[in-house]
Amino acid sequence: MHSDQDLRCRVCGYSSEEPPWGADGKSPLYDFCPCCGVEHGYQDSSQIGARSYRAEWIAAGAKWEDPDAEPEGWDLTEQLLHVPPEFK
Ligand SMILES: [Zn+2]
Repeated sequence: MHSDQDLRCRVCGYSSEEPPWGADGKSPLYDFCPCCGVEHGYQDSSQIGARSYRAEWIAAGAKWEDPDAEPEGWDLTEQLLHVPPEFK
């Protein structure tokens, strides 16, 4: 079982089916978040990196990387609450 937090994108708080950084939090999948488009293992490998990617993504309009994955009535503010605390 993965905890909810393990499944969350460090940049945008999106909940994946697989933990983006692996079960141990140290084995990034090097795949792309369908929401913010971060590549897990690169821009999100530090708090500073996650913060700066997040700021740029939001400044650019917080567009979904995969628009088909965007749920109806999606709420950015609510999702951001789920960013793991150490990457906020
Ligand atoms: Zn994301």
